[in-house]
Parts: sequence; structure tokens; C-alpha cells
Amino acid sequence: MRYISTRGQAPALNFEDVLLAGLASDGGLYVPENLPRFTQEEIASWAGLPYHELAFRVMRPFVAGSIPDADFKRILEETYATGEGGVFAHSAVAPLRQLDANEWVLELFHGPTLAFKDFALQLLGRLLDYVLAKRGERVVIMGATSGDTGSAAIEGCRRCENVDIFILHPHNRVSEVQRRQMTTIFGENIHNIAIEGNFDDCQEMVKASFADQAFLKSTRLVAVNSINWARIMAQIVYYFHAALQLGGPARSIAFSVPTGNFGDIFAGYLARNMGLPIAQLIVATNRNDILHRFMSGNRYDKDTLHASLSPSMDIMVSSNFERLLFDLHGRNGAVVAELLNSFRASGKLAVEEDRWTEARRLFDSLAVDDAQTCATIAEVFKASGELLDPHTAIGVRAARECRRNLATPMVILGTAHPVKFPDAVKQAGVGKALELPAHLADLFEREERCSVVPNDLAAVQAFVSGHGNRGKPL
Ligand SMILES: *Cc1c(COP(=O)(O)O)cnc(C)c1O
Repeated sequence: MRYISTRGQAPALNFEDVLLAGLASDGGLYVPENLPRFTQEEIASWAGLPYHELAFRVMRPFVAGSIPDADFKRILEETYATGEGGVFAHSAVAPLRQLDANEWVLELFHGPTLAFKDFALQLLGRLLDYVLAKRGERVVIMGATSGDTGSAAIEGCRRCENVDIFILHPHNRVSEVQRRQMTTIFGENIHNIAIEGNFDDCQEMVKASFADQAFLKSTRLVAVNSINWARIMAQIVYYFHAALQLGGPARSIAFSVPTGNFGDIFAGYLARNMGLPIAQLIVATNRNDILHRFMSGNRYDKDTLHASLSPSMDIMVSSNFERLLFDLHGRNGAVVAELLNSFRASGKLAVEEDRWTEARRLFDSLAVDDAQTCATIAEVFKASGELLDPHTAIGVRAARECRRNLATPMVILGTAHPVKFPDAVKQAGVGKALELPAHLADLFEREERCSVVPNDLAAVQAFVSGHGNRGKPL
């Protein structure tokens, strides 16, 4: 499989190179040159497969030519293992739980860090290690986090032989559960850096480091943020998994997806283009609603950042939206480059009416504020006894308001476990004690490891190059 850039100028790459690439050299994002398409009979024949075997069938075309079948199978078996010593705590890996008539939550929070990002980052860590071992290379991963991504990336890379990982978080500005999920994982190759600044400072330092990698001498810097193609690819699988449980592909399914950077829902869009009958995709946002403004009124206009009770969806622009724009414009990279250049200058973007109408045939959207989020947590708890995290609650609210057809099963992606967001649960007035799952029960007693570093690029880069070889200088 070859991958091309959404801006049409960068060279096409194979899967291995895309895995390590991050942004394309023309500033675009990589997408498959030809999306695989499965027949209904083929998809139907996958009913009842264990998660890792379904994953193999769905993702195999994307890695073709780079990873032999037997190796890919083994990697997937490890990634989605359950039971004693496994990675996922539920034997179904991604179980469905019914909330209401013809309405389900797909629980994607049974992985090590209790959020859906584990599905992609557990695989990404293993794929990186596999490819790097084959090439005899080591890389440095640098990332900034305000919460979920950092812990999922660290968990995904903790056993990697060929990866050193540095995660920057704003000192004293992430929740205790989220901080401890990062700082209590030890390894010579794992480095938590608490920056004496805010999240934007962290992100700026990571960006500046990618723009100028000379400080690392000959070691390559790799990004694991949501634009990484392998993350999107891994997320396609659970759309198939959910649909097959609910009578697909003979029946169409609708999905409502708590959305920030448009990675997760874009995977659903790809699943549909690969042959899965998806009747509707609902973009559920919080007050940071640039995607809702696009879907409801063709106005993708940049606004300021609003802090919310669903912090993992607090974004100003959605980095993966460019991948949808590429398809909406007949995969014309020059047009996409022009649109995004003018967006960078003006902060505004609209598409031609017929292209927007095309998007609206599949997508609906809703923006949900904190008060409605809390009301939904309370309402669902009262009606069903299920406790939702604030991100998932936004998905439920949007599903209920935007649903087109009551006869089509509605699946809301359950993106995080409520124990990660105790403030929202408390504000919702749900008087249920939150308990950490067994594998994290002693989280608050565990020793932490973290280095506090001044809010200064040179200091951060010196730290990375000083510890980038299993704790030794590069
Ligand atoms: C990352 C995240 C999201 C948003 O996913 P995108 O792929 O960025 O749209 C939603 N909910 C939770 C809990 C997350 O961690």
C-alpha cells in the first residue's frame, strides 16, 4: 500500500515510512492512495471473530508489502490480548452496553489507561518497535499532553526496545489521575517532563523541536499525535466490530462520536468507504465547536480555546479535518493546499455548496456545553444506572438530538472511563463512589517519576538529548 499527501506535493511513501513520518514534507497528511473495499459477503463472514482476528482482516491491506502476515498477526494478538497478563481488561476488548431502545455505548475504555487512545497507541508502540528492530534504528518520541494522549503513548511504548519517549505536560495543571497514569510507569526509556508553563507552552516546544531536529544529532524524532496514520488505521477496526455485533452488514448502523481532532470519527468515515454500511455519523463536540460550525453552516472558523469538563476535546482546530477536505475536493491536493493556506492567514474556511451538501449526507453534528454534559450524565445514570464520563455523555446527547432513524441501531463511542473525570461526575450530582479498576487500584500509592524543567526550549532540548539513549546522552 502506498500513501499520498493531502497537499499533493510530498513523495508517496510505503506503510513503514508513513509510520515514522508525521506530517508530510508539503505540510499535508498522509492517506492511503487507494482505500481497500470489502464486499458484504466478506464482511459478513467475519461475524464472531475475536477482536484481533477481525483487526487482522480489516488492517491487512494497509500494511501490505511492509509487514508479513504472520508477523502482523502476532503483533495484533499481543496488542488486543485479554485475560491474565493481557492488555485489555474486558474479554470482549470493546464491549457494547445497551443504554436505551436500539441505543448502545461501545466501551473503548478497558485498556491500560482507560481511554480509547489505547486501541491505537498500544498498536503503534508495537509497530514502531517491529519496524525499528528490522531497520536497526532507534527513535525519540516527543509529545505534549494535557491528559489522555500522554499516558496512552507511554503505556504503548513502555516495552519498546528501540524507542525513547519524552512526554511534556504542564506542571501542576493536569488532573492527579492523569498525572499518575504517566509518572508511575517506569522504564529507562520513559521520561515525564513537567514544564513550568501551560499546555500551549508544551505544545510549542514540541513543535519547535520537530521543526529543528539538529539538537538530536542523528536520531530521528517521531510524532505519536492524532495525525499519525497508524492511529487512524487502528480505530477503523472497532466500527466493524460494533456493526458485526448488531447485525451488520445486513443492517445499517449509526455512530455518534465525541470529537476533538477528528481522528476517531474519520476512522468511521473510512470504515464506511471500505464497505461497512454506516447510515449516519454524528460529530459530537463540546463548546470548542469548530466542526459543528462547519457541519451545521459550512463555517470552519477559528475561535478561542474554551476550557471544558471534557478536556480531551478542547481544541481550536481539528488536525484531521484536512483528510476529509481532501476527499470532498476529489482528492485534489492543490485545492486543499490553497484552502488551508488561506485558512492559516484568515482563520476562516468554507467549501463550495455542493461539497458541503455531500458531507452532510453522512455527517450531522451537535455542540454540547458543560451544563448539558452534566445533565446528560445525571439523566443516563437515573434511567439506566450507567455512569458516563463527560466525553461519552456528549456523544449520547448528540445521538439523541441528531438521530435520523429510530430503526437504525445507534452506537455512541464510549471514549473514556468516568473514573478519569471525577469533577464532571461530581458536578453532575451523581452520588456514586468512583472506583479505579483492578489494574489501577493502587495508583495513588505508587511512586512517581517526573522531572520538572523550566519553560525554556533550550533546557527541554538539553534534557532530551541528555537522556535520549535509554537514559544516557545521545
Ligand atoms: C482524544 C479524545 C477524544 C477526541 O478524539 P479525536 O480523535 O481527537 O476526535 C474524545 N474523548 C476522549 C476521552 C479522548 O481522549
